[in-house]
Amino acid sequence: RKLNIALVGLGRYANILADGLLVAQHCRLAGIVTGTPEKAKDWKKRFNLDDKNIYNYQNFDQIASNKDIDLVYVVTPNALHKEYVLRAAKAGKHVIVEKPIGISVEEARDMITACEKAGVQLAMGYRLHYEPYNMEMKRMGQERIFGKVKLVEASLGYKAISNPGEWRLHKALSGGGPLMNLGVYCVQAGRYITGEEPISVTAQYGPVTYPDIFKEVEESITWQLQFPSGAICTSSSSYNCGIDRLYAAADEGFFELSPAISYGPFQGRTSNGPLKFPETNQQAVQMDEIAKVILAGKRLPDHISGLEGLLDMKVLMAIYQAADSGKKIAITPEKQ
Ligand code: NAD
Repeated sequence: RKLNIALVGLGRYANILADGLLVAQHCRLAGIVTGTPEKAKDWKKRFNLDDKNIYNYQNFDQIASNKDIDLVYVVTPNALHKEYVLRAAKAGKHVIVEKPIGISVEEARDMITACEKAGVQLAMGYRLHYEPYNMEMKRMGQERIFGKVKLVEASLGYKAISNPGEWRLHKALSGGGPLMNLGVYCVQAGRYITGEEPISVTAQYGPVTYPDIFKEVEESITWQLQFPSGAICTSSSSYNCGIDRLYAAADEGFFELSPAISYGPFQGRTSNGPLKFPETNQQAVQMDEIAKVILAGKRLPDHISGLEGLLDMKVLMAIYQAADSGKKIAITPEKQ
């Protein structure tokens, strides 16, 4: 059978996930949670949804008695992740939550605890963990294919935000600017290419060149993570400059991707030559792989766990602290 997924928050990314679910083999779009009745009507028609699997934000908790839904995928603005993860867990549903896990480390802990207590699994929507180019970067780093990694450069930015009503520009809903939205991928890359947890960070905000738009969140930010081995990961995330790149310099060579983090097509090479992998439907593969594990009654792998989301959130918060203070901030290891 296929795993039945309900999407919460039918915005841009939920539409991309829904397209992925149309071609997925092990899961399907079975339900939706939306505050907009027109969207409910439109999605019901487009995806042939059963009326009893369509919820709004008020009656969402009734999903607890709906045997047709196995997993709830939270795709709302960041500050609303926690509420829906907690409600889904209470309803006894497994959960995937989009990145970043929430807007604080405390929220991350609350989500992990709630899912553990409810006996449901919590996964991060880290699509790149199922994307071949990115996983090759991780492998080459951790297996030291080119020797010890000394430097990672990981940056992601785009120049698209001009609507002041966009929730990403409002700190209460986003938790921050491009760091929260895009920087989380760079932190991930630094962590999984080195296979280490950063011990300290320095960071600098970029100039505000659009003061009418960037009133609450940073327009751009640059930071440097220091790892126990001496490796460094230097990154920028930006809402005023297009950049999408991963680069790793190791003792005996380099490996890189650009584009690296967006939806592809990707391009990669190493000091030995080009990298070539099939392009995948990232969302379909991600949800299929998660579905297979849950359908088999097994535990989801650690690399997409809620704890991963928490570890990234710790680093994001330390980056803000470093940029705010101008000081090097130590990152305390998480007791596991
Ligand atoms: P979006 O603005 O397009 O969609 C957000 C949805 O949440 C909308 O349908 C909106 O109606 C709903 N919503 C519910 N309550 C709301 C409220 N109080 N204020 C505003 N909207 C509310 O945003 P998006 O781009 O789809 O992003 C949603 C989540 O998905 C974010 O956490 C984001 O980081 C994540 N995301 C992940 C990827 C990825 O590649 N993994 C890509 C894009 C977005």
